[in-house]
Amino acid sequence: MTPESFVFQALSNRVVFGAGSILNVRAEADRLGMRRVLVLCTKQQTEAAELITNHLGDAAIGICARAVMHTPVEVTKAAVEDLRALGADGIVSIGGGSTIGLGKALSVRTGLPQIAIPTTYAGSEMTPILGETEDGTKTTRRDPAILPATTIYDVDLTMELPHSLSVTSGMNAIAHAVEALYAPDGNPIIALMAEESIRSIARAMRLITRHPKNTEGRRLALYGAWLAGTCLGSVSMSIHHKLCHTLGGSFDLPHAETHTIILPYATAYVAETVPEAMAAVRRALKTGGSAAEGLQQLAIDIGAPRRLAEIGMREEWLDRAAELAVANPYWAPKPFDRQAIRTLLGKAFSGERPR
Ligand code: NAD
Repeated sequence: MTPESFVFQALSNRVVFGAGSILNVRAEADRLGMRRVLVLCTKQQTEAAELITNHLGDAAIGICARAVMHTPVEVTKAAVEDLRALGADGIVSIGGGSTIGLGKALSVRTGLPQIAIPTTYAGSEMTPILGETEDGTKTTRRDPAILPATTIYDVDLTMELPHSLSVTSGMNAIAHAVEALYAPDGNPIIALMAEESIRSIARAMRLITRHPKNTEGRRLALYGAWLAGTCLGSVSMSIHHKLCHTLGGSFDLPHAETHTIILPYATAYVAETVPEAMAAVRRALKTGGSAAEGLQQLAIDIGAPRRLAEIGMREEWLDRAAELAVANPYWAPKPFDRQAIRTLLGKAFSGERPR
């Protein structure tokens, strides 16, 4: 990107990164003036939440294991009751985007500060964005009050993330970085972060695929996820995210897998209109082919899913998906065209090469 004129808006949060960094959680809570902290998690991650309460010591007042996918408003209402009944003055969320989403929903309703401790690569901890569902409808809002005050990235907490979740979550993060490279409100700082993010995560995914507990791979993946989350939180996403939101929201396809499969095809769709962005992706992936082919090759090398047919999509839904995607499009460097989107989805359905 040529730095001729641009706008850069910094995120106003604090990041603590490194192996063993959850040892700092009490000090970070003290820094925010938290004396009565409620720890959030999913049912699957109560052990990790207990670890956090141990480190918080007498500042911890309990664990709320209500977090589930899609941040349903009725779950948030029950958790607000928990917060009030316990007299909490702060929130620590440990987990993936679902748990951090619950923390955001509580924080924006109560004004309480949140410390986010991510254990996947989804990136929600770095964004002022909250998606919530009520009566089957998902609404998304952006508000500076949603951004967690502090994020603690502890590499040790990601060592046990299963391989399948690691690679799809990593590709989900790469998708944020790729779209940041051609965002209408992009800027040179975010472009640097995006390229570094893709480079780090691509290397990390290959290392983790060989050895899931490779510490260098886990560190690079979390570092890249931080950069990708910053991209997502700072600039607008485009056609790739629109397609994934359509497929996830209307056909209930799983979040990270959908991102993984769509990314090469969405990239091929815009490629000729954004050559500088594509050059950055190719440099980061160290590929001699196109950016889209490099992304698909990465997915193949790391054993990630490649076909919508594998993750619950049905062929007879493709026409409707294309209609929904073009009905209310996001900005994109190449206009949304119903027939072209239908062709793209057809290729992603069967896993064809992304040309
Ligand atoms: P997730 O939070 O739904 O987690 C999936 C499962 O993996 C959960 O059962 C969780 O407990 C478990 N898990 C998480 N970390 C683990 C670990 N280290 N070891 C073992 N199990 C672990 O998945 P996700 O992909 O992180 O988040 C997806 C959700 O986040 C979606 O709803 C998406 O919309 C949202 N999201 C929001 C934003 C935003 O900016 N608002 C950004 C990215 C994602």
